[in-house]
Amino acid sequence: MDKAEALAFFATGMKAIKDTFSALKTAKELLPDNRNKVEISKTIDEAEHNFKIAEAQIAQGLGYEICQCKFPPVIMTNVENIGDTKIFKCPECGKKFPELDNMLFAKAYTT
Ligand SMILES: [Zn+2]
Repeated sequence: MDKAEALAFFATGMKAIKDTFSALKTAKELLPDNRNKVEISKTIDEAEHNFKIAEAQIAQGLGYEICQCKFPPVIMTNVENIGDTKIFKCPECGKKFPELDNMLFAKAYTT
């Protein structure tokens, strides 16, 4: 399996898990309003929080950059390439990595 295939499997798997959380939240709304519903809601929220941390860690392992503007961290997506350098952008805050100043600094040292 090459990296592109691994990324496709990763994206498909993450979508399936997100869909599962969505279904759990929909099912939770069908419960009567009582203490059990509050506890179930808290458990689903904690599980989703842990999933987002795991998702970010797996994405980082697959070569994505992580933005720390929020917690759990946000997965930055590859928006452009400058030479061999991939430029990633955070979908939440718009921050790019590597930052342009660092790119110019790096180029000054490599040329
Ligand atoms: Zn961000």
